[in-house]
Amino acid sequence: MANVWSSQITFRENELHLSGMPAHKLARDFGTPTFFIDEADFRERASAWSAALNESFGENAGHVYYAGKAFICVEVAKWIADCGIGLDVCTGGELAVALAANFPASKIQVHGNNKSVAEINKAVEIGVGTIVVDSLIEIDRVAQAARSQGKVQPILLRLTPGIEAHTHESIATAHEDVKFGFSIASGAAWSAVLAARSHPEVELRGFHGHIGSQILSMDAFAVSADRLIELMGKYRDEFGVQLPELDLGGGYGISYLPEDEPLLPSTVLPFLANAVKTSCAAYGVDIPRISIEPGRAIVGPSMFTMYEVGTTKMVLLETGETRNYISIDGGMSDNIRPALYGAEYITVLANRTSTAPLISSRVVGKHCETGDIVIKDIDLPADIVPGDLLAVPATGAYGRSMASNYNHVPRPPVVALLNGKARVILRRETEADLLGLDV
Ligand SMILES: *Cc1c(COP(=O)(O)O)cnc(C)c1O
Repeated sequence: MANVWSSQITFRENELHLSGMPAHKLARDFGTPTFFIDEADFRERASAWSAALNESFGENAGHVYYAGKAFICVEVAKWIADCGIGLDVCTGGELAVALAANFPASKIQVHGNNKSVAEINKAVEIGVGTIVVDSLIEIDRVAQAARSQGKVQPILLRLTPGIEAHTHESIATAHEDVKFGFSIASGAAWSAVLAARSHPEVELRGFHGHIGSQILSMDAFAVSADRLIELMGKYRDEFGVQLPELDLGGGYGISYLPEDEPLLPSTVLPFLANAVKTSCAAYGVDIPRISIEPGRAIVGPSMFTMYEVGTTKMVLLETGETRNYISIDGGMSDNIRPALYGAEYITVLANRTSTAPLISSRVVGKHCETGDIVIKDIDLPADIVPGDLLAVPATGAYGRSMASNYNHVPRPPVVALLNGKARVILRRETEADLLGLDV
């Protein structure tokens, strides 16, 4: 059984504790719903990916780029910088967070399939390390931005290796019929190579592939690497020089349920190193500098969400059975993943233990949609009452970052815990914040 909780979570004195702080105190001090992030756990995970990359690839280790879209705020960008790893951003907004954190520009990589001219100009201006180019139009835009600023911009080409990664359709990115990247099979990738080479203002440094997210089996990563390296071989044959960099993307799956076996850096990186070595030998390519981009695998397990129960209701089903509907004070506005991808979570009663029998339950939010479900089917103690606290683990990735103001619900804060001390790193939105946009 994998552990779905971050490293500083303990269950003792009948209560969940994070970094020594009991759940009832966290709820009293910071309110609910709230995302609590285990800072030590986050830093450990970020460092573990970086250490494993260095260990497995040695002198060929490039960067770990943390995928900021999983969750970013100024404080977390500073933690990432402290850990010495890089940052992936895909919008001007994410770039603004990086800049507010004084993140070193040389370690920023810019993604996105529709970067605006303004976003590209800004990225070139601040001197980001790499722009990962996603279309022919964008190659021209980057070249134009670099030319007008008298610079040469390093780029990677995002390629589509043509893979069906085993994950939800909305987060698989490397089959052919997708908006991302240049397809290798159709020849689009090679056209992009030629286009990039035609502009002296861009420096084509290599290729990039990202096959999807929440992937729990490693094989697809090897297939993707192989197709990218095969094209590097073609490049070398054609132009007599080798592209120095290869970015294998992110997507490493985590445990949401105890039965999910996560992809850990200590298994992923040796596997990738072996795959890269094999493919490089097969295509006569020197091993390039390898980078990776984990997002979920760093922040996902580091956070949990704490909710307070507001109402419970026993519903009689057509089968004659009953289900306890437990309504919490958040829902699809702070965790859209169950509604969007059918994502599954567990929860525990955080403020006390219960010896009541477990009964069929559904944890639902407070929004005006039937699909506003946090946990569809779970057995929970029959004596859960209003005021009880429920903790949902592994909500760090694509939770707060995808949060909305649906039903004019203010988005929850993020509170960091380290060494027994808690501090707000992203405050709770207020009704005044929401009304502030009305003209
Ligand atoms: C989303 C994304 C990632 C991170 O994916 P995770 O599943 O969070 O690891 C990395 N690279 C690119 C290009 C992405 O779009």
